[in-house]
Amino acid sequence: MTDYRKTLEQHMLRLKQEGNYRYFLDVQKSARDFPRFYYEDAQGNTRTAVNWCSNDYLCMSVHESVAGRLAEVARQSGAGSGGTRNISGTTVCHRELEQTLASLHRKEAALLFGGAYLANVTALSTLGKLFPGMVFLSDERNHASIIEGIKHSGAEKMIFRHNDIQHLEQLLTGLPADRPRMIVFESVYSMSGNIAPVEAIVRLAQQHNALTYVDEVHAVGLYGRDGGGISALLQADHAPDIINGTLAKGFGVTGGYIAADRVIADAVRSFGSGFIFTTSLPPAICAAAARSIRIVREDHRLRLLFHEKVRQLRQMLAAYSVPWIPNPGHITPVRIGDAVRCREIAERLLDECGVYVQPVNYPTVPKGEECLRITVTTRHSEADMVCLAESLQYLLQADRQHHSVYIAA
Ligand code: PLP
Repeated sequence: MTDYRKTLEQHMLRLKQEGNYRYFLDVQKSARDFPRFYYEDAQGNTRTAVNWCSNDYLCMSVHESVAGRLAEVARQSGAGSGGTRNISGTTVCHRELEQTLASLHRKEAALLFGGAYLANVTALSTLGKLFPGMVFLSDERNHASIIEGIKHSGAEKMIFRHNDIQHLEQLLTGLPADRPRMIVFESVYSMSGNIAPVEAIVRLAQQHNALTYVDEVHAVGLYGRDGGGISALLQADHAPDIINGTLAKGFGVTGGYIAADRVIADAVRSFGSGFIFTTSLPPAICAAAARSIRIVREDHRLRLLFHEKVRQLRQMLAAYSVPWIPNPGHITPVRIGDAVRCREIAERLLDECGVYVQPVNYPTVPKGEECLRITVTTRHSEADMVCLAESLQYLLQADRQHHSVYIAA
């Protein structure tokens, strides 16, 4: 007979032994002091640290006007929508936000979801089923939600080497001309900061009659003249067919979406289980997200300030001889290469230095690529950067010494 408890305990034990068990820190977020936050340590003492792993890149979650709009509409309309989109859960706020997103991405339509994860799973699985014989061509570094969506479609999948346009072309050329196909990739890769050759991929897709689907989750708000992501840097007719984005990172609220031609959005709206059978986003969330997008689109200084902060941070790390993996994006990964050591360093950063960076371990990154994924925001100060760089310098040195003694022994 199956011992359910014991089986699960064994799974958890193995995860812990590998160093991949996830421990959460209960953060007391402060709108006023962000990125500084407060937390209780194991002894019950209130402590403070600076957050170096938030995706609230532009600090829009703590923007007064955005938070104010959330509170105002929550007072008017209540806390939740009270229904699925089909059953009384479509409000004026949903409609307005979808129009805003379609305009941001220069597409005919947009469709809202509870998050970009759900948007990826639903859009990919639905579209895969609507085209019999569909083949997905998927970048090997795609996010878990993309992998999940393709899996649920039941369609065939071919994986191309990361950002390797020649390999993608080879795979496309090998397909029978009449088979429907979709190329799926991210614009800014969330762990490495690598940026995809979006224009080249779209051009190739057009030659091979393929649809293109891009996850712009880590690009919206931050890239493109008005924050429309990497695709917004291209001519509208050279942009990918379907753009996936989040309202939770650059826009600081929550929720996800796709933007595409009207017929594509309508098909996902009509057949997508993850769209149809779930309560819609609260109207206040939609209104706050629309306000955030408006501010981010209009205030180009925000984007300039953000990229300037990325440059300053990297300069500071270099000054303290902290190596990071170079990339053209805004994510600054410091490779550790071992799950247990990665966790130990992160713990010491928090306990001894007041620096909070989550260790990124398998399966988020392949084994051997465990890293500290550092993200700066528009509110990090020079003093915060000095503290981070000094702390990392000290702890990485200590780790190297300890590790070399360990190897020698
Ligand atoms: N796509 C990528 C590349 C991500 O990194 C994430 C989340 O971190 C998502 C999708 C999911 O976004 P959301 O948090 O809006 O569900």
